Amino acid sequence: MSIRLKPNATIGIVGGGQLGRMTALAAARLGYRCHILTPEMDSPAEQVAAGITRGEYEDKAALRRFAAAVDVITFEFENVSAAGLDLLAALRPVRPSPAVLRISQDRVAEKRFVNQAGVATAPWVEVDSAEALDAAIARLGLPSVLKTTRLGYDGKGQALVRTPEAARAAFATLAPKPLILEGFVDFAMEVSVVVARGADGGIAAFEPVENRHRDHILDLTLAPARVGPETAAAADRVARRLAEALGLVGLLAVEMFVTQDGRVLVNEIAPRPHNSGHWTIDACPASQFELHVRAVAGLPLPPATRHSDAVMKNLVGPEEVALWPAILATPGLIGHLYGKAEARPGRKMGHVTRLFPRGALPGGFGLSDALGPLGARICPE
Ligand code: AMP
Repeated sequence: MSIRLKPNATIGIVGGGQLGRMTALAAARLGYRCHILTPEMDSPAEQVAAGITRGEYEDKAALRRFAAAVDVITFEFENVSAAGLDLLAALRPVRPSPAVLRISQDRVAEKRFVNQAGVATAPWVEVDSAEALDAAIARLGLPSVLKTTRLGYDGKGQALVRTPEAARAAFATLAPKPLILEGFVDFAMEVSVVVARGADGGIAAFEPVENRHRDHILDLTLAPARVGPETAAAADRVARRLAEALGLVGLLAVEMFVTQDGRVLVNEIAPRPHNSGHWTIDACPASQFELHVRAVAGLPLPPATRHSDAVMKNLVGPEEVALWPAILATPGLIGHLYGKAEARPGRKMGHVTRLFPRGALPGGFGLSDALGPLGARICPE
């Protein structure tokens, strides 16, 4: 179904987090309203949205009320029940489609899909019993990574296992099952590409960026990634190919490992705006959120170009958000806060971007210096 939303139309966003908030801000600039579905009170997204339906994602009456209030529906987080999305899709266009969401919700479906599209991942085996685990270890070797197939994020639901005993202990505690055992990748770098695909099949992809994690949570994104042109081109090709193969209308983030010999392996895909694309708000004429809104609204996509290089540092937990006054007092730091009342450990509270002329992205100590009061918080390279 091809639609082009008129100005003042309403985009429904399933989920109330910061991704919905930044999508709603981009939508407002393009003349659209956003209406949020979330069970949460005072969510980051509803603070900047035109309307809210408060309800559980499984609550059929709430889903129907939400659909009746909007012209098109998208989502900002993936753990929405696929059955709920099907109900929504019967009432309004849902972009990306529930079929795309189903693939990204399940690591087995995801990896199968990626491999069938001719794209490499780490070797993996589905593990649904203790015997299957032993067989998987015999095949993939150790160390390897045992992961839940559903409902995992920010490193939750996974364990790096170095011995068969540790693997068995992790198998006993990780839930829900089945699990997946993945070969451990001794990566040189983690990169991601955010790609948008419009209803007309047009594609725009931001250059690959480099991601550094702390405690399994994204800490830092460097744009562009410090990789050679061949690796950058390979990452770009992978993202475009997956967007095409999914028949995507919307945004897709593709997280990849770059191996020591420069190959690219897909780790995860997410059919929504992504934390590693937040730098685009400040460094690009059209951000990932604008591309998302345009794709969902059926508008043409602008090119995903950047006018500056950028570093994005997440503000995680009470320690980092406490630096907010110092961040505001530092020229050159561009601050974003998500409006969350409570700063729990590990919670993403905001982010900070610093821009550089193209080609002038610093490394090492230069990077810490550039982040001012946040410099001491980043892990050494
Ligand atoms: P995930 O939840 O799959 O995105 O994994 C979170 C993080 O764990 C990744 O960004 C990597 O830093 C690390 N990781 C996950 N899978 C592997 C793997 N197979 N080999 C090495 N590191 C991994």
